[in-house]
Order: sequence, then C-alpha cells, then structure tokens
Amino acid sequence: MTEKILVIGAGIAGLCTALALGPTGKSLTLIERDGPPPEGSPDEAFHDWNRRGVGHLRQSHAFLARLNTIIKTDHPTLRQELLDVGVRELGFEGMLSPLQKPTYQPTQEDADLSILTSRRTTLELVIRRYVERLPNITIKSNLFVRGLISETNGDGIVTVTGLRGEDETGPVEILADMVIDASGKNGSAIDQLMAANAPISEASESAGILYFTRHYRLLPGQIEPSRDDNPPATGDLGYLKFGVFPADNGCFSITLCTPEIEYEMRKAIVHPETWDGIVANIPGLKVWTDKALSEPVSKVFGMGNLLSRWRDLAPGEVPAVLGFFAVGDTLIRTNPLYGRGCSFAAVAAYALRDVLTAQSDPKARLLAYQQRLHTDLKPYFDVMQRQDRGAIKRAEQILTPDYRPRLRTRILLSFFEDGIGPAIRTETNLLREALRGFHMLEHPDAWLRRPANLLRILGYWAKSKKSKAGAYPPKLGPDRSEMMQALGLSADADIAILAQQRTKHQLAAAA
Ligand SMILES: Cc1cc2nc3c(=O)[nH]c(=O)nc-3n(C[C@H](O)[C@H](O)[C@H](O)COP(=O)(O)OP(=O)(O)OC[C@H]3O[C@@H](n4cnc5c(N)ncnc54)[C@H](O)[C@@H]3O)c2cc1C
Repeated sequence: MTEKILVIGAGIAGLCTALALGPTGKSLTLIERDGPPPEGSPDEAFHDWNRRGVGHLRQSHAFLARLNTIIKTDHPTLRQELLDVGVRELGFEGMLSPLQKPTYQPTQEDADLSILTSRRTTLELVIRRYVERLPNITIKSNLFVRGLISETNGDGIVTVTGLRGEDETGPVEILADMVIDASGKNGSAIDQLMAANAPISEASESAGILYFTRHYRLLPGQIEPSRDDNPPATGDLGYLKFGVFPADNGCFSITLCTPEIEYEMRKAIVHPETWDGIVANIPGLKVWTDKALSEPVSKVFGMGNLLSRWRDLAPGEVPAVLGFFAVGDTLIRTNPLYGRGCSFAAVAAYALRDVLTAQSDPKARLLAYQQRLHTDLKPYFDVMQRQDRGAIKRAEQILTPDYRPRLRTRILLSFFEDGIGPAIRTETNLLREALRGFHMLEHPDAWLRRPANLLRILGYWAKSKKSKAGAYPPKLGPDRSEMMQALGLSADADIAILAQQRTKHQLAAAA
C-alpha cells in the first residue's frame, strides 16, 4: 500500500523532501501556513509574496555545489527551468584568483563546483511550481499546523499519526502513516514533542553574527562589473564581512554581517545613509553601487538570533518518537554565512528517501536516518562550529585595545594567512580540493589531510612574504576605526561595553 506522508512546511526543506521522495511514488501532502506565490514573474514573487513563515525570505541566498549537483542529476528539467527564468549558475572559473586565471585548464570535475544564485523568492517560486506538477505531490496552502496527533505505544514511545491545524474554514485534522517536519527554524512540532517529554536531544549556540541584506537592480543597459578588473566583491574585514550575490533579471544583493558585539554598527547599519557609507568605503562594493550602474530597490533587511543547532531524534540510538522525521532548519540549523542550510536540507531529505525505501520498521528507519545525518552532515556542522567560535574570539580581540596574541595563536594565524591563503590562491588544484570540502562534495578537512597537499602548503608557508607577494589579497577596505570615523560612529563605545562585560564575568567568577 502507498504510504501517506504529511510534510509540515513547503519551504526549501519541504520542497527538497518532495524532490527526493516524489520519484519513489509515495503520496506526499505538503501543509503550508502561508499563501501560494502570486501568478506571474519573479519580480512579482519578490515584491508581493507574503511569507510570514519565512522571515529570511528576502536575505541573499545561493545554493552550494552539493545542492546544485543534486538538482542537476535528479531533476534536470527543474535546473533548466531555474536557468530559464534567470537564476545564475556561477562556475569554478569565477572563483579563481588573478594569479590562477591565465593558466587555468578546466577539468571534468570543475563542472561539479558550480553554484546557483538568485533572489530566494525566485529559487523558491520555480522549485515550488515544479514540485506542484509532480504526480503524487499536493501542496495545501493557508493551513497552519497547530499540533501533532499521536499515541503512546507499549514501549512508552510516542508514535505520531497525524496533525491538527487550522485553515480558513476552521479546525482541521489529518491522519497519515508518517509526518515529516520541515517547518523551519521557528517550527514548533519538535518543541511540542520535547515539552511532552520525548527524549529528543538539542545542542545550540550563537553563530555570533547578524545578517543584513539590501537588493539592487542594474540600470537599463548596464552590465555587472567584471570580477577580473575590480577589487574582490566578497571579503572579511574582521569587524564586518561583505558579499555581493548576483541574482536573476538584472538584480543583485549585498549582504553585510556584523559580529554580535559590534552594537554601534549593527544598530546603525539598517539606516540607508549608514549602509551607503559602508558600501562606499569598500572598493569591491563601491563599483557595484555606483549611481550610474545600479539603484537600490529595497530597504535593508536585518536578521538576528542566528544559531547553530543540532537536534537528535534518537540520541544514544534510543528512538524518541516514531512515525515522525524532521528535515531542514527545524532539525539542524547552520550559520547562514556558509550558505549551507539549503544543501543540509536537501542532503537530509535524500538520506530520508534512502532509509524509507530500504526498510519499513519504524524504529530501524529512525535509527538509520539519524546515523546518516551523523555521517553525511555532522562533519560540516562540527567544522563550522569550530570556525564560528574562532570568529567570535577574533571579533572580541578587535575590541580589545591591548590584545597581544599568544605564540600558538600567532602560529595558527600565520599558517592560514601565509600558508593556506597563498597556496590556494596560487595552485588551482589546491583551490579545487579546498572548495570540494567547502561545497560539501567531500569531508571538509579531507583536502588538508592529504599529505601531498599539506606539504605544498608548508612549502608556501616557508617562503618569504616577498617571494609570494602576488598571492596575498589586496586591502579589502578600511580598518575598524577608519570605518567608524567615516560613518560618524563611536569606535570606543563597544570597546567599553566589552571591557565592562569582562570585568563583570571576572567578578562573578571570583565570587
Ligand atoms: C539570513 C539567512 C541567509 C541564508 N542564506 C543561505 C544561503 O545562501 N544558502 C543556503 O543554502 N542557505 C541559506 N540560509 C539557510 C536556509 O535559508 C535555510 O536552511 C532553509 O530555508 C531551511 O529550509 P526549511 O524548509 O527548513 O525552512 P524554511 O525555508 O524557513 O521553511 C519553513 C516552512 O514551513 C512553514 N511553516 C512553519 N510553521 C508552520 C506551521 N505551523 N504550519 C504550516 N507551515 C509552517 C513556513 O511557512 C515555511 O514555508 C540562510 C538563512 C538565513 C537566516
């Protein structure tokens, strides 16, 4: 008998679940609290699609190579439809440094390293229209899920048998063989299970940053600045990260990220005049926002409370709930800086497909699913958290006037800046391998663990700075005090706040 599956949410994870499970012939109903997209073009979706369920809908989005590869391989028609409406596919060649470009020889595997980028509304619109055409998939919009229907079996384990919600006609109850929760970062189904004592484990910590995005459109007849002849359009100034996201139909967006502890900057950045001031002071952004080339078409969208969170539905191989799976942000949340959230959702959805088609016992399915998540996603999650903790420390160091790094820190920093950096900016093969890790095509540390690669990097590290001068990036923008002065903001206020916080912690620890 065909299994009847309910999916909470028709966001990226819900849609990826449909892409993964649709071809298996299972019957899927995606339940979505928001209304459907407006008829018409990507511009209409961008301006008019009301998505209260996705607060980050108008933040910059790109799909990493891992998700692009899944779409290319499993849904080539969808890929073509994305490209047809103007979604951009950016290849490996665009990621090369000026040193690498003249001698670049494409290899077959470089095609795997391309990303898809556009306004998220466009990506979601096209994927949703495609999913709606799949034979055994239904999307019910404007239905808000309020809770799960469940029973407790003989072992005391909760088994989910359906859900209850509310649409414009009133309360609704739907029964099913299984519920897949794809309700996103603010979804409440897992919280409800935890509140009912289901032994689900959860570990979360702050990503340490805030995200700000503004959209632009090229003026008629204008083209995007060339990446070859201009300063880098992405970079990290320590106190601020920045990036340009090329998008569909003459649009692009700029994203700025501030550390959480840069209170002055994060308060002011949403004001258009501060935003324009920042952009004008970063050469790689200034060329994109020249008034003769483009104009802003949106306000500055801000996003805080960014967490990394790992939930486990079967911690210690003990199933906490049966008939219930979760994919996407409701289960695993990642720092948006890495651009991995949608790929995580897709990888989880495909792991779930494998598990559901391979076996039918509910416990075995859950254990196998959690095992796959640990193998397929946990390494990226762990490396990300390690890097985030490092970035949080660096942001604090910038606000510590008398900070002097320890020898170990200086050595590590030098290894990154004078070893890894110059090596991947010089040797195309090293860049290729590093990016395969970043784009989730292999273990994130695999390239560094290969002895030959490590030797090459050590070789660069040992060289004098003069001999590898061309392999360092140009200055990306002003330092913190110059920027704060240019914006008319106090450079000292946050230094004082951090010093006060430290004193408080020290006093608390001593008490
Ligand atoms: C600022 C920011 C930038 C990001 N940039 C990138 C990027 O560049 N690349 C990338 O891969 N990832 C990025 N991400 C992460 C990515 O957006 C998420 O990982 C992805 O949206 C997760 O998909 P999801 O379906 O789990 O959640 P969502 O896409 O948020 O979808 C959840 C869906 O569930 C619905 N829903 C919720 N509750 C209910 C309910 N009770 N009843 C019915 N429906 C409900 C919502 O309306 C929504 O449609 C970014 C995230 C943020 C915050």
